[in-house]
Amino acid sequence: MTSEIRQLADRLIKEHHLLREEYALLIDSRDEESAKYLADAAVAVRKKYYGNKVFVRGLIEISNICKNDCKYCGIRRSNKACERYRLTEEEILACADEGYRLGLHTVVMQGGEDGHFTDEVLCELIRKIKAQHPDCAVTLSLGERSRESYAKLKEAGADRYLLRHETADPEHYAMLHPAEMSFDNRMRCLRDLKDLGYQTGCGFMVGSPYQTTQHLAKDIQFIEEFKPEMCGIGPFIPHHETEYANEPAGSVELTCFLLSIIRLVHPRVLLPATTALGTMHPQGRELGILAGANVLMPNLSPVGVRKKYELYDNKICTGEESAQCIRCLATRVEAIGYEIEVGRGDFCS
Ligand code: SAH
Repeated sequence: MTSEIRQLADRLIKEHHLLREEYALLIDSRDEESAKYLADAAVAVRKKYYGNKVFVRGLIEISNICKNDCKYCGIRRSNKACERYRLTEEEILACADEGYRLGLHTVVMQGGEDGHFTDEVLCELIRKIKAQHPDCAVTLSLGERSRESYAKLKEAGADRYLLRHETADPEHYAMLHPAEMSFDNRMRCLRDLKDLGYQTGCGFMVGSPYQTTQHLAKDIQFIEEFKPEMCGIGPFIPHHETEYANEPAGSVELTCFLLSIIRLVHPRVLLPATTALGTMHPQGRELGILAGANVLMPNLSPVGVRKKYELYDNKICTGEESAQCIRCLATRVEAIGYEIEVGRGDFCS
């Protein structure tokens, strides 16, 4: 680490802000020493707000049916080899009950943009979960919807919404998505969600095709400005049935470096160590936590559908029962000196 980079790092640690070119420089000149320096600072600032607690969210993958055709995604509509499924309302409620029985106080319902899940269907589902478990937070991750729809879901009891922006650069966005999808609508959704009072999560893939350091610097700036309550970042991993099948995956090392930067830019953000990170390295999620992440999202989906929710190749945690997944995570977290927190774990404002 040169003295110039050391100064940049110190400014970031102190001011939670750098210029775009400075973020780019920090990323491009990273080495083991600067990564360790930023990770230590990220861990220290996280500790100030969240102690050594790692929040656990139960993830239910409610459907892999999707009307969209994102070029990187294994469940894109044009993947004819994908075996489609949709959980019934009973199955979803049973997964939520199981999560609650295992002590979790957040359920995340994620899925493709499946037309079956109208506002009426979702509102009823949210109301039922909230009626059964009033002390649970309900998080949705169901893609782009109208402002009216987001408002109704909020009204029904949804607390949080995850919608990765995917890339903060409109041209890069256009490369990764088909023409009928738009950067502007993605951003409109994020603004509406925040405006409606959701704890809102954005995020992006690290190492997605065509991604440059400039794009990453823009992503960090976007996070700085948007101030999401949550931010999901994980390595891009190719899926064999997409046009990016032979593209290289994103690296664990760069993902961890960016986790540290994001923690420093936005100290209280809820930052998951993602399943994609765990897929790329046997200790990927631990490395993420040690770089500044503080959320884990064990899978509560019925074991029978887990392999079908295949966003990318070789996804981990598709074989074990939910209880086993949670136990495994608790052991891993304790091994690195952290503690599982199963409470709602809201953004600390
Ligand atoms: N349909 C919903 C949620 C499901 S996709 C939505 O659009 O928000 C959830 C996230 O998985 C996406 O936002 C994307 O960033 C990530 N993802 C998709 N394909 C991936 C891949 N090949 N590698 C890594 N992450 C991927």
